[in-house]
Amino acid sequence: MTGRPYRGRGRPPLFDDGARERFLGLVASGLTMRDAAVACPVAQRVVTYTKFHHADFAAALAAAREKGKRIRDDAQPHGESRYNHGGCRCGICTKAATAARAGRRAVPADDPSAVIDMPQLGGSLPVLVLAVAS
Ligand SMILES: [Zn+2]
Repeated sequence: MTGRPYRGRGRPPLFDDGARERFLGLVASGLTMRDAAVACPVAQRVVTYTKFHHADFAAALAAAREKGKRIRDDAQPHGESRYNHGGCRCGICTKAATAARAGRRAVPADDPSAVIDMPQLGGSLPVLVLAVAS
């Protein structure tokens, strides 16, 4: 854990330098931290512990996460979701978001005929009928 070679006493290190490099490579390739921990394999709590106790690993992890997030974002297909969540304003995304927005606005809001008629309750409970209909 300290960068020194393992001396052979006590419990062997769970997350040695090689495992850290492998984990950081997986994160930088676009895997989430959870998936990278499963693939490494290492428990997530070990990664969290190492992050909080080793500043150099924390800095490398932050850089790897940023790189991996960029890769995941670039892999997302162009469409309304990328327009809304990724901030992409290309022609495809803008057109898809505009069409989806227009489609949602075309739906009539709260058609009164959709209110469920409940004759067993009579007409004396409008608040309950509104709660059921909404
Ligand atoms: Zn786009």
